[in-house]
Amino acid sequence: MRIYDIIEKKKNGLSLTKEEISFFIENMVNGNIPDYQTSALIMAMYLNGMNDKEITYLTDAMANSGDTMNLEEMFGNTCDKHSTGGVGDKTSLIICPIVAALGIKVAKMSGRALGFTGGTIDKLESIPGFKTNISNEEFKKQVEDIGISIISQTGNIAPADKKIYALRDTTATVESIPLIASSIMSKKIAAGDKNILLDVKVGSGAFMKNKKDATKLAKTMVNIGKALDKNIEAVLTNMDEPLGNNIGNALEVVEAIEILKNGGNSRLKELVITLASLMVAMSTNKNINQAKKEVIEVLQNGKALEKFKKFIEYQHGDPAIVDNYDLLPKSKYKYHVESLKTGYISEIDAEKLGTLANLLGAGRNTMEDEIDYGAGIIMRAKIGDYVKAGEAIATLYTSKEDDGRYESMYLDAIKFSKAKKGKGKLVLGYIKK
Ligand code: URA
Repeated sequence: MRIYDIIEKKKNGLSLTKEEISFFIENMVNGNIPDYQTSALIMAMYLNGMNDKEITYLTDAMANSGDTMNLEEMFGNTCDKHSTGGVGDKTSLIICPIVAALGIKVAKMSGRALGFTGGTIDKLESIPGFKTNISNEEFKKQVEDIGISIISQTGNIAPADKKIYALRDTTATVESIPLIASSIMSKKIAAGDKNILLDVKVGSGAFMKNKKDATKLAKTMVNIGKALDKNIEAVLTNMDEPLGNNIGNALEVVEAIEILKNGGNSRLKELVITLASLMVAMSTNKNINQAKKEVIEVLQNGKALEKFKKFIEYQHGDPAIVDNYDLLPKSKYKYHVESLKTGYISEIDAEKLGTLANLLGAGRNTMEDEIDYGAGIIMRAKIGDYVKAGEAIATLYTSKEDDGRYESMYLDAIKFSKAKKGKGKLVLGYIKK
């Protein structure tokens, strides 16, 4: 078998066999296939799509491309959540400590920034000292001791996804149902969680721009999980504007802490409570109302915040950041963006703002790029807010000098209307077994 022929076949829109997909994954992980051939095949998969059988073969080959764990056997009742990616999506930083504070174990493997979206691992690594590549022993001990650990795709868990993920990030091949579904589900299968909640983002700041595609992605993933006897559910949530006010790694850590202190952006908080309650309900015998009551309780009584501090401490980070945000990395410059118009904000192109945050230094443009952890955006006005010309509507943080280009990019992402336009619904649908 030759990788050249497999690329040629997919380029011509034909379906790949189980053997061809296994050959590709095995040889890519072993280093026998160079990045340019992997990238070419990924692009062909992106452009021509894959049928359900191919997606299952790809997911299975990726899940078994390295070591596998059985979190359920190791820790009992674990619950994982995974987002399909959105702009300003810092929900894992908040939800995981909440759920752990309620006694459900969270042993989670997260990703880095992908395309115009951020990644939980990069956000956590903005905390001074925080390590996401701890050993398997440390990971295990930490989950046993405090019930929560979030690690990067270290060791040898789903190494095929790690490689393909990094290549997709820099080759414009992210927004693909087969590639997203196989990426997420291969990690979940390799880790061996029983309970899995998928947060499928829909809108301008998501990879799926409309509900139809998002539903298809959600169903694809739920069906893969179901076939493997997982307790899996998906929620479709609104990503028509960035989630919360902050975009960028350290800036999002601050916003997450504000929610854990029971303050912060109300829509972000509502989403966090919704997702955390679903996780609690699906991994216990509590009904959703009881679960929600308990989630709100641990936000109010400080137990979720305490759990977050312990989690930072165990992963070698400095928990003092929780009370002193000045300890987090900062970019060299800050620029205010002033509105050119008076009126209600009616639309925000979240992808454009994700791309801008990336250019400011919050993401990577090549696999080797270093992240500027302090870089990003604080939005001061969101959909439905009334602003006057000359009013500051955002602050941009970067270590790069700006000649006005970044400000123009921000303004280009915002639309105004004379009449107030409401935000769309937060939860757009559920896909259950
Ligand atoms: N999260 C992942 O792990 N993979 C994707 O492709 C998108 C979001």
